[in-house]
Amino acid sequence: MRFSAFFFDGAARAFNTRPTISKFIVVLAASSGGLVAYADSKSENAIEASQPAPKKKKVLVLGTGWAGTTFLKNLDSTLYDVQVISPRNYFAFTPLLPSVTCGTVEPRSIVEPIRRIIRKKKGDIKFWEAECFKIDATNKKVYCRSNIGTNLDGTGEFAVDYDYLVLAVGARTNTFNTPGVVEHCHFLKEIEDAQKIRRSVMECFERANLPYLDEEQKKNNLHFVVIGGGPTGVEFAAELHDFVSEDLAKLYPATRDLVKISVIQHGEHILTMFDKRVTNFAEEKFRRDGIEVKTGFKVVNVTDNLITMKNATAGEFSVPYGMAVWSTGIGTRPVMMDFMKQIGQANRRVLATDEWLRVHECDGVYAIGDCATINQRKVMEDITAIFKVADKDNSGKLTLKEIQDVLEDICIRYPQVELYLKSNQMSGIVDLLKGAKGDVQKESIELDIEEFKKALANVDSQVKSLPATAQVAAQQGNYLARCFNKMKDSEQTPEGPLRITESGRHHFRPFCYKHFGQFAPLGGEQAAAQLPGDWISIGHSTQWLWYSVYASKQVSWRTRALVISDWTRRFIFGRDSSCI
Ligand code: FAD
Ligand code: MG
Repeated sequence: MRFSAFFFDGAARAFNTRPTISKFIVVLAASSGGLVAYADSKSENAIEASQPAPKKKKVLVLGTGWAGTTFLKNLDSTLYDVQVISPRNYFAFTPLLPSVTCGTVEPRSIVEPIRRIIRKKKGDIKFWEAECFKIDATNKKVYCRSNIGTNLDGTGEFAVDYDYLVLAVGARTNTFNTPGVVEHCHFLKEIEDAQKIRRSVMECFERANLPYLDEEQKKNNLHFVVIGGGPTGVEFAAELHDFVSEDLAKLYPATRDLVKISVIQHGEHILTMFDKRVTNFAEEKFRRDGIEVKTGFKVVNVTDNLITMKNATAGEFSVPYGMAVWSTGIGTRPVMMDFMKQIGQANRRVLATDEWLRVHECDGVYAIGDCATINQRKVMEDITAIFKVADKDNSGKLTLKEIQDVLEDICIRYPQVELYLKSNQMSGIVDLLKGAKGDVQKESIELDIEEFKKALANVDSQVKSLPATAQVAAQQGNYLARCFNKMKDSEQTPEGPLRITESGRHHFRPFCYKHFGQFAPLGGEQAAAQLPGDWISIGHSTQWLWYSVYASKQVSWRTRALVISDWTRRFIFGRDSSCI
């Protein structure tokens, strides 16, 4: 027995070959069948122990936001050599950022150090606090720069290789190149932004209380302007209103009637991504609270004390202000724009991936969260190929059975088909086909390619890009981690739908977003919620639902405890107004 193990080991080394091939060598070398069987299993263990473990593939994650952190948390880090790079060494719970601007919640309560998350994971994960400034997908390398230290050449720059690259760098605030915005407006994207806003609000109040200002100057100082009527802008305006009316009005009684909060919105309404009932309620509540909502206005210039806006009827005019917050949507980060130029996506607004979150034409590169968008393949682009796959008997006609045989795969590959059936209240594919064939009997349905095209002509109208939300980013991070965890198995047992333009099956199902609803906190302990199934809830009870959902969504028990204690402190003692 010792001999067989030794031989096996020696043969394997001599032939510099893998255990499976060595197994074959033993079978050839030994003439005794019984011995072969024993030698086979024993010696395989011996060789496994003596050979170095195969090198793990390198996974490099850029970003520690919603997408990157969720990916990291769900990845089986024992399978890969994982590296994380981000200029931020923590994860920030962005939905509570507006609460930080007024001290309802403290900044440290909504952040979790990334190293605490890494510590809980198995395997060796490296984190480097640095910013990526260039991606070289051809040589599978990224170039980074640290802002906290320099290396020997004095630049703080370094390069990192990868096998798989996960881009999760998020987005930046979009100023639409409006002059003066970067210099004079606050943004609300990062923890530092919220801290600056909090300080700036308090400075406006202290300045308005200085003895040498006249009434007009005080009023101007206490004019708070929010540009952008989306969820972030609206929530900030509501938070600020609560802060002023519940806390600051008592501390600065002389300024009580001088404060004004305005929301400037380019569109016709605020909160346009919500149902009309929510929009109406929010606009009505703001009107009652004295928050001015100026819809249909476009801000064209900002100086240190004036905001200039225009609309078709009022023309162009300027208003004085004390503090302005710019919250009008997101734009692409410079590193991503540079990358998009390299890979032929220069004419796009945001990086495109396929439905498996892979960047087009870039081997091993994935993009998740706000930095990318899924380019959903259209049914009409593949209609001839779909027809061919379905027409198993090559008759040039599709029977109902032939269509039904591939329907599940088609609906997985092209989710717009199911959405189209749902939105047109169709009970199934038969209804759709009848549209092309007329009111015929189920059994006699037979379509040629032209009729098939006609039946599916409008399904692509249901293709919509996903919103830039934490919900989408987290689901994508989770999905991608699952794919990475099953990468090996999926080669043998693919779980995806039929490939339409090639043979076989896709390794995985495409990413499928599940919407769990959205909240809009409106101040005064009232909130609006729009949940799946067109279910709307508005009022005080919804605010309690908001508290419980956001407490439960915290990334750790530590932050959950901190956030709940901040809320409790605020209920008992109010918000702190120190200028720090
Ligand atoms: P981010 O969370 O922004 O993370 C990006 C990460 O990349 C950061 O760690 C950043 O430091 C890092 N990074 C940046 N540049 C580089 C670089 N060059 N190299 C390496 N790393 C880099 N969504 C909801 O669903 N519900 C809400 O209630 C909600 N409220 C919000 C409130 C506010 C105030 C804001 C600003 C957003 C809110 N969102 C909400 C949206 C949500 O925060 C984003 O959609 C989400 O953060 C996107 O996740 P992400 O991982 O793509 O990007
Ligand atoms: Mg046929």
